[in-house]
Amino acid sequence: MTAPASGPVRRTSEIGYRRCVGEDQSLGDPIRLGRLLHRRALGEPLTAEQQETLRRGSAGAVAVAARRYAVVEFEGYAVARLLLGERPVSTLLRDRLADDHRAAEQRFRSELSSGAALTAASGAASGVAFGAASDPAFGAASGVALGAAFGAAGGAADVPDAFEVFVMRHAAGKRFDDVLRDVLRARALRRDALDRPARDHYAWLAAHRQVTPAGQLPEHLRAWLELSPVAFVERALADLGRTPRTGPPIHDAVAERWAATNGAVTKRLHAARDATTAQIRTIPQARRTVKHSVKLTAAARACAGAAALDEWATLVTEELRVRAAEVHRSPAVRRLRADCFAAVATELARTDPDLAAAVTQACADHRQHCDPHAPTRTGCIREVASTVRAARARAAASTVRAAHAAASTVRAAREAASTVRAARADVDADQAGRGRRPGGAQGERA
Ligand SMILES: [Zn+2]
Repeated sequence: MTAPASGPVRRTSEIGYRRCVGEDQSLGDPIRLGRLLHRRALGEPLTAEQQETLRRGSAGAVAVAARRYAVVEFEGYAVARLLLGERPVSTLLRDRLADDHRAAEQRFRSELSSGAALTAASGAASGVAFGAASDPAFGAASGVALGAAFGAAGGAADVPDAFEVFVMRHAAGKRFDDVLRDVLRARALRRDALDRPARDHYAWLAAHRQVTPAGQLPEHLRAWLELSPVAFVERALADLGRTPRTGPPIHDAVAERWAATNGAVTKRLHAARDATTAQIRTIPQARRTVKHSVKLTAAARACAGAAALDEWATLVTEELRVRAAEVHRSPAVRRLRADCFAAVATELARTDPDLAAAVTQACADHRQHCDPHAPTRTGCIREVASTVRAARARAAASTVRAAHAAASTVRAAREAASTVRAARADVDADQAGRGRRPGGAQGERA
């Protein structure tokens, strides 16, 4: 076996790869491996090569799925014997297969969580609110203050200081996210490229160059991935229904597609098996033949194949989720995030210099009494951001007050002007009156 172990978690993609290059067809195939396990349980002789295949295929999602296959096929086998009036199978055998399956599943899950724990421990203990808040990439030497970066003409070395970038992100809120969307688009990155993905883990990992992008996979894999959800189920049903029984290729890229079927294939094959069983029950036992047994066995094997693929898809999807979380925590993604956030901050500072000035001022004030690179930075970021927001709100309010004041000054001036006009009119009228009735005023005065 030459496949490298690239980490504490066993990578099913490697198994899938081996299957693609045909080194050992059974090793990455839970159905073929499961058939061997079932035959071994029944005490059938296996070749040395088959025994070696079983020995090597004893870890990872495929191994768990193969054991699930063996359990389900054995159930079908037990029913077939009963219907044909043969001696019932040993419950001991059934229990042993079930135990084997449970043990493999526990082994897989503990490997997955210890692998994840190992990687988490080796990374910085971040992930609180901002994944990058305590990243070394955001260290003291990470750049210059916003004001300097945006004030100066700015060489390539003028990267805004990470602390100020995060304060700006918090202070700008939705506006920051809007600009970030443009920045990601300009870099041909997914919208969720900087977030831990909630779905489509394979595609997310491909975007971060951790796995082969779907478009570059071999033709027979792409053919499955390009099917609509309905066509995917139909093709899986057809492939599991004939001999040799196959499903979609055992590859990480297909796992999430299978998981998305939500057991639709399994349900339909179970219904078909139940119908076959019910139909055979209507026939008197003496007239049941090998032909019926073959039909039952075929139905049971199809069910077992679908159940195995259900389990495989669930476990691989879980594995992809863990891997995406690892990558999300990695220095490379943190650097990318820092880079994109800095680009957003630069753009926001260009379109809103007042915001940049407020951020720079608040950060400078904060540094007077706190080391912004201390591990408590997340709290500091929130604190400084709220200072910025409050200062901006005050500035906006004082602008409004100033406008009110200006408006009342204008009103007052207008009132004054109209008073003057009225007074002038009075004077004019007075003078005119004096002109018309000379002596009148004198008379009044007298
Ligand atoms: Zn602080």
